[in-house]
Amino acid sequence: MSVNNRRESDTVVYRSTRGGAAGVGFGDVLLDGLAPDGGLYVPDRIPGPVPSVADRPYVDAAPDLMWPFVAGAIDRETFGKLVREAYSTFTHPEVIPLVALGSGQWIAELFHGPTLAFKDLAMQLLGKLFEHQLTATGRHVTIIGATSGDTGAAAIEAFRGRSNIEVVILHPNERVSEVQRRQMTTVTDDNVVNLAIDGTFDDCQDLVKAALADSELTGVFDLTVVNSINWGRIVAQTAYVHWIAQRCSSDGPIDLVVPTGNFGNIYAARVAQRMGAPIGRLVVATNRNAVLASFVNDASMTIGPVEPSLSPSMDIQVPSNLERLLSELFDDDGTAVARAVHTLRTTGSLVLDDATATRVAQGWSAATIDDDETVEIMTETYAATGRLVDPHTAVGIGAARAASTERTQVVLATAHPAKFPDTVEEATGRWPDLPPHLDSLYDLDEQYSIVPNELAAVARAMTDALGVGSPSHVRRS
Ligand SMILES: *Cc1c(COP(=O)(O)O)cnc(C)c1O
Repeated sequence: MSVNNRRESDTVVYRSTRGGAAGVGFGDVLLDGLAPDGGLYVPDRIPGPVPSVADRPYVDAAPDLMWPFVAGAIDRETFGKLVREAYSTFTHPEVIPLVALGSGQWIAELFHGPTLAFKDLAMQLLGKLFEHQLTATGRHVTIIGATSGDTGAAAIEAFRGRSNIEVVILHPNERVSEVQRRQMTTVTDDNVVNLAIDGTFDDCQDLVKAALADSELTGVFDLTVVNSINWGRIVAQTAYVHWIAQRCSSDGPIDLVVPTGNFGNIYAARVAQRMGAPIGRLVVATNRNAVLASFVNDASMTIGPVEPSLSPSMDIQVPSNLERLLSELFDDDGTAVARAVHTLRTTGSLVLDDATATRVAQGWSAATIDDDETVEIMTETYAATGRLVDPHTAVGIGAARAASTERTQVVLATAHPAKFPDTVEEATGRWPDLPPHLDSLYDLDEQYSIVPNELAAVARAMTDALGVGSPSHVRRS
């Protein structure tokens, strides 16, 4: 690993993982989401080194940690103000409390934002950055996204009531938890549209992809995405990895264990590690949908049907952000990335060559934790420490156990236990209470449309809800 020592004021620009775009600034990367050639945006160099922030509060440190990635799109003072505002919605004074689990083991609680999952840390900031960038450019965008639960709630909470932005979220009807559904459907701002699709999460994702490729829809709406393929989310996640790693590394580099689904959070950790964060190994923690564990452990992966688990936010078989790691592993060769992605999509599998497999084995570990183990870990953690942990965090704790190491281990706790109360109660006999700001969640009216699994029906629901024809909804190019 080499740290690039160019002056910090040098602005990072972006290119596509597939080689099709070059020199794009952060503002466009943020608003466009996907690169024009279908690839994902990545920085053209890894900036660094980052400042020492272990003694600073997170909200104070975060703008410095993110600055190299956003410089050029916004002035430093405004950026600091937007970061402060974004994290003022968090209910814990430290924003990200670090909690000792046992000797040499910590958990970093990333779930104290408004919707109780780690996604708020990036999404709250994205809401601010979008509004700033849209006002600066006079653009008006419509965010479209599919959710298995957490992303939709975090996006709606971050973008509700903002000008120049609408947010349309597709969730699989009757396949998200009641807390997750209510967090989305009780938001009644005019710029929020909730569509419950008669289908699975994969169907929702296919509909979003189809919408983005549909010239009639994109002629009416300037569509964009804020799921974890949006580089802005990776930037925000990179910052907390630096801060956590620096704070926990008094005895040398840590191992960081990350419950993983779309490979977003752990890819951000990889970027932080390349920038110089004191991280020894990155540990991929998966549930029974273990494609990423087999990528790390066997240097090959085969996509199967999604299997429901107790950690539903990680029930994913096609992890979008893996493309960014492939770009690193293939030394930024866009043609090789495009070929690998094509092979994976068309054949359903990908096998790494020996040299690449060796590089993966040197830096990464992975473990898979099934539902029975997940519940056992929740039970044991409660018995040993008195703490309730959610099933996703439990998968991380289980993977930390499996990855034996001399180093301090830090597990990212990705959701609040009250988001998955049934599993928590089953494992511990205790019902986790929602934080006070969500007290009325079960009493509020819900607003959403149930829509057949067809693009035409989604398009109709969108135009009905957003009133196409009014000048503010005409796409500006
Ligand atoms: C989204 C999510 C994950 C998976 O994160 P990725 O960045 O997609 O790997 C894990 N746990 C929870 C609670 C989540 O909401």
